[in-house]
Amino acid sequence: MTTSDEFRSNRDNFCYRHPDRQSFVLCQRCMRTICPECQTPAAVGVICPECLREQRATQTTAQKKAERRWSRAPMTVGTQRPTATYVIIAITAAVFVLQLFIPALEGIFAFNSAFVIPSIAFEPWRLLTAVFLHSSFFHIGLNMLALWMIGRSLEPLLGHARFVALYLLSGLGGSVGVALIAPGIWVVGASGAVFGLLGALLVIGRHIGANITGILIVLGINLVIGFVPGYNIAWQAHIGGLVVGALIGLVFARTRTRARQPLQIGLLIAIGVGLLALLAIPAVFYV
Ligand SMILES: [Zn+2]
Ligand SMILES: [Zn+2]
Repeated sequence: MTTSDEFRSNRDNFCYRHPDRQSFVLCQRCMRTICPECQTPAAVGVICPECLREQRATQTTAQKKAERRWSRAPMTVGTQRPTATYVIIAITAAVFVLQLFIPALEGIFAFNSAFVIPSIAFEPWRLLTAVFLHSSFFHIGLNMLALWMIGRSLEPLLGHARFVALYLLSGLGGSVGVALIAPGIWVVGASGAVFGLLGALLVIGRHIGANITGILIVLGINLVIGFVPGYNIAWQAHIGGLVVGALIGLVFARTRTRARQPLQIGLLIAIGVGLLALLAIPAVFYV
């Protein structure tokens, strides 16, 4: 879609064993790009099948024995699991169950832009905690379905840390979007974060095995109920998340090489700081 020609033509952005597959994950031993299918979890990060074979060849009998005993996926070339996706879904579901028993949680953790204005009330955690709250079974069901659909393709491609950074910064983007476009309204939900994943997916490319049509249908329903009053879901959060997610997708696509990793981390921090700085704008309307 919006992926640049430069990015497409750069072979560093594709698996060295499968030149048609994009990836952002490097083998920790030879530093070549490998797709999810070619990744095997190692002590640090993941390694490619060639390095796995070399490593095995140089192992002593005792080491091999120890590995067979302790390794989760011995002797097989494994597929990276979307662990962070599952963890985020588990946390969100647990929080929803808690909400059913303790309705007061929403009053403490939901987001309202008035709570990031020091002269009124300063409870900045709401910017992120609201992402883990939901207003109904329908709301959490839609969001977690979309998260699972996107996460299982996008997380193995990006790696766990980049995926979590994308999710949280997009969630923050959703809250900031609400503060900018509709200051004063209450919002909860992972929609902003999920729309961020979609934004990144659209920038990074559609050829990663994700079912874009299914994802768009689920998010379309999500978008529509965002306009239904009483649901505490705001379309403003969807826009904030989508814009931030697309921006982060662009950062990932342009800073994929190892030499640019510090730049990538710096840019992610800059996006977070920039979002917080934007909160000063709605504050003007209150003071
Ligand atoms: Zn390797
Ligand atoms: Zn591959």
